[in-house]
Amino acid sequence: MSGPGLTLGRGLIDTDGGRHRDAVLAAPDGRLELALAEAVRVTPGPVRVPPAVRHRVLAACLERVGDYEEPDAALVAALSRGDADLVALAVREALLGPTLALVVRCANPVCAELCDVDLELADLLPDTREPEPEWFVAEAEGVGRVVLRPVTGADDEALEGVPGSPATRTGALMAAVVRAVDVGGDAVPLPDPDAWWALPAPLRTAALVALGRRPLAPTTALQVGCPACRAVNEVRFDPIVLLGRELQAGAGRLLLETHCLAFHYGWSEDAVLDLPRDRRWTYLALLRAQLTGQPLETAVGHG
Ligand SMILES: [Zn+2]
Repeated sequence: MSGPGLTLGRGLIDTDGGRHRDAVLAAPDGRLELALAEAVRVTPGPVRVPPAVRHRVLAACLERVGDYEEPDAALVAALSRGDADLVALAVREALLGPTLALVVRCANPVCAELCDVDLELADLLPDTREPEPEWFVAEAEGVGRVVLRPVTGADDEALEGVPGSPATRTGALMAAVVRAVDVGGDAVPLPDPDAWWALPAPLRTAALVALGRRPLAPTTALQVGCPACRAVNEVRFDPIVLLGRELQAGAGRLLLETHCLAFHYGWSEDAVLDLPRDRRWTYLALLRAQLTGQPLETAVGHG
C-alpha cells in the first residue's frame, strides 16, 4: 500500500534535464512512525538534525519521486531544501493530520505567556502547479547578474565538512550554487569561495535575496500576535524536528496500542505495525466497543 502523493516545486532533474516532480509517500503505517521517532532523536530545546540523518529519514518516507522508485538517501540529498520541507510536512499530515498545534512562549520578557498557535498545513504550502525555474537570475542594476540554483540537501551535507567562519561557509555555499556571474563582460563561474566575496556588494545582496525568496518552499517562519500583550512573535519551525518531536511523544502510545491489538486479536507485532494509524485506531475503537458491550457500529464510521 502506498501513501498519498504530492507535487514537488523543483523535484529531481535528471541528466537529460527531465523533471521528476510527482512524489508518492511510503505507506503511513506504524512501522514508519516508529522508524521516524527513532531516527530523529529530539531533545528539549533547540535541535539540529544533521543533513545525512535528514536524508535517511526522508528516503524512508518516500516510495517514489517521478521515475525514481524507492529513492535512497543520496537521491533525496539532491532535493532542494524547500522540497525536503514539503515532503516532511506531507508525511506529517499523512501520519498526524492536517492541523498543527504549536505552543509558543511570548518573547516579551514582561509577558512570557504561553500561547497556542493552530495552523492548517494546507495554508503553509507553496503553489507547485508550475515548476520552479531550474535557474534563477539575480540582477543588480548597472552592476551585473548572477545565475544560481536553490540550495539542496547535498549542499548542506558538503557544508558540514567546511571548517571556519560563517563567511567562509557562505563563500563555499555560493560557489556551489552559482552557475555563472556576469559583471559587464562574459558570464563565468565562481572559481572558488573567495571569488564570491570579491563580487560587488549589490550583486551579492541580489543573489542572496533571490536565494531566500525565489525557491518554492513551505512557510516555516510566521509572525504570531501574543493574545496577552499583543507583542508580535516570530515563530520558526523545522518540519523534520517537529515531526520527530511529535512522533516521539506518541511512541509510547504506539507501543501500548500495538500491545492491545496483538494481545486481543493474536496478531504479530509486524502485522500491527503494517496498519496505517486510522485503521489501527478503528480496530481499537471496535475492541473498546466489544469489551464494554457497546454496539460495534458506534465504533466505525467516525474516523
Ligand atoms: Zn505576550
